[in-house]
Amino acid sequence: MIIDIMTLFPDVVGDMLCESILGRGQERGFIKVVCHQIRDFTTNKQRQVDDYPYGGGRGCIMLAEPLYNCWKHICDEAGKSIHTIYLTPSGKVFTQNDAKRLQSIYDRLILVCGRYEGVDERFIETCVDEEISIGDYVLTGGEIPAMVVADAVCRLVPGVLPDEECLTDESHWAGALEYPQYTRPETWMDKSVPEILLSGHHENIEKWKKEQSLLRTKTRRPDLYEKLIIN
Ligand code: SAM
Repeated sequence: MIIDIMTLFPDVVGDMLCESILGRGQERGFIKVVCHQIRDFTTNKQRQVDDYPYGGGRGCIMLAEPLYNCWKHICDEAGKSIHTIYLTPSGKVFTQNDAKRLQSIYDRLILVCGRYEGVDERFIETCVDEEISIGDYVLTGGEIPAMVVADAVCRLVPGVLPDEECLTDESHWAGALEYPQYTRPETWMDKSVPEILLSGHHENIEKWKKEQSLLRTKTRRPDLYEKLIIN
């Protein structure tokens, strides 16, 4: 999986995605994250990437031209059109199922990070296949949302996680939240690890995990629990 990120802050995004598991995934060649500086694709002297909105209103809007030039450069270099996602609070809210879908369908993605008040709509109409939001709130830029999507997709690429089985146990994989987890010591601040986890009885432990997972989903996310029960 190759992820191209179009941003005004390539160093921040690149550094973050080079750490830990994703960093090792890149070193081993399972994934590749390439950050592109949108400003490098301006054609004006000031390397200006934004301007005032037509019709008035607050702030500035990112110009279509540098975005298009950057996007075209990536597609031309790849020799094909690449599924392009614009991160925006107006998009469909991202879920684990979207991460699975993107990982299973595409071998390369372009993630476009907006700044200011967003981007010229004509760039979206011309180049963007899908608009994704990471939640119903507004951030200052699309870099954190792009990192969220890149991280969630990349960790699903076979070979990236040391133990792929752990994916299927995790929250949101099959619609439920994960059971509570404990590590050493057995007692900490007068709180003990549930006895069942120390019993060595694998069948009972699995049963306990399933029950706890359902209980947690029911109390914390009744919306998810309802869907689980219906299915
Ligand atoms: N004026 C825009 C609006 O009301 O929808 C918000 C612009 S926001 C300040 C700047 C950029 O941050 C956006 O272009 C987008 O790329 C990114 N962004 C902010 N919140 C986001 C969210 N919840 N999900 C995805 N991207 C977001």
